[in-house]
Amino acid sequence: SHIPKVVILGAGYGGLMAAKRLQKELNYNEADVTLVSKHEYHYFTTHLHMPAAGTDKLENSYVEITKLIDEFKIDFVKSTVQEIRPEEKKVVLEDGALSYDYLIIGLGGEPETFGIPGLAEHAMTIRSINSVKAIREHIEEQFKLFKQDQTRVDRLTFVVGGAGFTGIEFVGELADRIPELCREHNIDRSLVKIYNIEAAPTALPGFDPKLVDYAMKVLQDKGVTFKIATAIKECTPEGVLLATEEEIKSATVVWTGGVRGNRLIEQAGFEAMRGRVKVDEHLRAPGHDNVFIIGDNSLMINTAIDRPYPPTAQMAMQQGPVAASNIVASIRKQPLKTFTFQNKGTVASLGKGQAIGVVGNTKLTGFMAAQLKKVIDIRWLFIIGGISLALRKGKFF
Ligand code: FAD
Ligand code: NAD
Repeated sequence: SHIPKVVILGAGYGGLMAAKRLQKELNYNEADVTLVSKHEYHYFTTHLHMPAAGTDKLENSYVEITKLIDEFKIDFVKSTVQEIRPEEKKVVLEDGALSYDYLIIGLGGEPETFGIPGLAEHAMTIRSINSVKAIREHIEEQFKLFKQDQTRVDRLTFVVGGAGFTGIEFVGELADRIPELCREHNIDRSLVKIYNIEAAPTALPGFDPKLVDYAMKVLQDKGVTFKIATAIKECTPEGVLLATEEEIKSATVVWTGGVRGNRLIEQAGFEAMRGRVKVDEHLRAPGHDNVFIIGDNSLMINTAIDRPYPPTAQMAMQQGPVAASNIVASIRKQPLKTFTFQNKGTVASLGKGQAIGVVGNTKLTGFMAAQLKKVIDIRWLFIIGGISLALRKGKFF
């Protein structure tokens, strides 16, 4: 008899949790499961603002996938997906192809540049281990280069485009790192400028206004200059051009202005909004009973406010196991589970010892919020790799 083939694309928060659930629920020979991901490691996107600024080691942001799954039950394939062909039930990889009976798509997001000229070419983004390594090295290089030609103050000007959570968390780390770099290169701190530029009328649009004020105050005290209600309209090799016609000369532009789903989603012919598919209550793509879409590739409406839930790791890690259970149920011809999101709250770091957060109706700031952020990060390490991983990669202090 035919053993169903299950293929999971992406070993991020969603894909990894799906794989772990499948290895737990499936009986021997009930299905063949293959997990495909671009890198041999799973990386913690929620941690990337730190190695990007250089305030933590890169090694604390990733872990080998084969250490996290049972290789007797899950086949891990390190490869880049090039095409998804739902009509043929096939996935094309850079070095081959896989056919499937059931598919889980968890390929994560991509930076969204909204077609703003020059961003794709001249700005850097916080999206992967390689991209944050490049940002860190670029920042360090600017300090060295400034020493060689001290007329180039643009080398000490850092522009972060977008004051969403990614932008805010990154400027918090950058502001912590700058004094270290100034000491190391014997440069006056007052020469260094950090701009966080936000198009909306407020930083962290949609978040609690009191917490937004608190965050801005903490970051301003560390030397961050905000330009709010000011859109970046172009990025050039010299810096950025703002909607106000002001130009900021900067050798370092980091774009944190938004994310979209993966382009492969649209190319596969799924009906999508910016690379995100509006899935049904069982997390399936409309019209495809065998294709489950999770994490940043999926779109779910929060009916309480009639707006889509933001793409978060929290969402992805809750969806993964439900998609996996629903594949097991499909194989066993049992009824599928309905997914409901449990909002556990939001906590954003503002650099060392500082954070803001909302948990239920409780607002948190300062040390307590920062401790909670650490607990959340360590919890993820514990979920995927148990005590030993939590101890090895967790930041307890
Ligand atoms: P991802 O975790 O992005 O995983 C996608 C996987 O697919 C990766 O392993 C990737 O290598 C792989 N992949 C991609 N393309 C291909 C391809 N073509 N072929 C093969 N493999 C591929 N969310 C929170 O809830 N809390 C936070 O504190 C938080 N902090 C964040 C901080 C930063 C700096 C950033 C950038 C994001 C943060 N987020 C946070 C958002 C969160 O990271 C994402 O929502 C989450 O990673 C989505 O999970 P996912 O499983 O959909 O995709
Ligand atoms: P985002 O879309 O949430 O924020 C992007 C910001 O850039 C917005 O405030 C937007 O107004 C601004 N922007 C857009 N175009 C601009 C322009 N031309 N000029 C200036 N500003 C512009 O993106 P993000 O911050 O990367 O977050 C992505 C997802 O990841 C969100 O769902 C977020 O909740 C999640 N996330 C969560 C955390 C956390 O919980 N700690 C941290 C990081 C990211």
